[in-house]
Amino acid sequence: MAEREPAVPAELQALLARPAGDVLLLGHVNPDGDQLGSLLGLGLALGQAGWPVTFAGPDPVPEPLRFLPGSTLFQQWTTASGPFHLVVVCDCPDPVRTGGLLEGACGPATQVVNIDHHPDNKRYGTANWVDVGASATGEMVYELIEALGLKVSPEVATNLFTAVHTDTGSFRYSNTSVKALRTAAELVARGADPARVATQLYEARPVGSLALLGQLLQQVQVSADGRVAWLALPAGSAPEAFLEAEDLVSYPRSIRGVKVGILLKAKADGRVKVSLRAKGEVAVNAIAARFGGGGHANAAGCTVQGSLEAATARVLGAVFEALEQRD
Ligand code: AMP
Ligand code: MN
Ligand code: MN
Repeated sequence: MAEREPAVPAELQALLARPAGDVLLLGHVNPDGDQLGSLLGLGLALGQAGWPVTFAGPDPVPEPLRFLPGSTLFQQWTTASGPFHLVVVCDCPDPVRTGGLLEGACGPATQVVNIDHHPDNKRYGTANWVDVGASATGEMVYELIEALGLKVSPEVATNLFTAVHTDTGSFRYSNTSVKALRTAAELVARGADPARVATQLYEARPVGSLALLGQLLQQVQVSADGRVAWLALPAGSAPEAFLEAEDLVSYPRSIRGVKVGILLKAKADGRVKVSLRAKGEVAVNAIAARFGGGGHANAAGCTVQGSLEAATARVLGAVFEALEQRD
């Protein structure tokens, strides 16, 4: 594991020490549990401390995350209002992923706080805190809230618990550290309800989802050597809400012996969204980076131009190359 940076930089603590103006908690495209949990948890805590807070991003809160306290406050923007005194971005390695909203929200005096655990973070903030050893950005935000002496209400705790829960794959992935579990335990002590979070995330499927899931999973393919499994979905294979709710890429990875699991989703606009997952043996963020994407060693993504067949061939080629280099 990379050496850890010191906890909560003093610069960042100073910026958030006391209410000093309006704050935008800004999301990126396809917001996930870690990002929304971090933004909502931090924003609710700052709001309680007297900061005027706004929550916004280029995409809406996906259905499975609408149980998060404060999620109804989250606005979908095509252009940013502003400038804000402070903009906080969480779990977002590259400002491009805010869809232009970061630039729009900033004036010459705006302070940008960048809190993240991605190794490819571009350090685009005026204050940056990047801890690649953190299981989730939510784990860092909890540390920040504690350092600032802010109140961790049950609503804040639920958001941060969900952030750690989702980024560790429900405490199953290799980032499930002692600190992740301690943070989760403390958040439960402060009012997060693990059973309720799990029910909302995994036991709230619409009727009909299982039949569609079964149908799609029949299309999972496995390489002859058994090391790579993938699911390539043509545009329109399933409703967008279904694709957002189901962690489809986890199924190819779940096969014994598979080292890299891949999901390729063709979009109507001729692009293919690719998700890559590994089990610690191949760094899939390096593969995603070859296609202009990024992420973590075991969870990465990219978007590839071209047909589903061409994208599948290119990505599989890169994955096999990475496996061969490892051998
Ligand atoms: P996903 O497969 O979309 O769930 O993403 C897995 C991880 O890869 C997350 O940490 C994302 O932030 C990152 N990621 C996904 N797509 C991209 C992209 N196009 N560019 C950079 N990072 C990405
Ligand atoms: Mn994320
Ligand atoms: Mn994360």
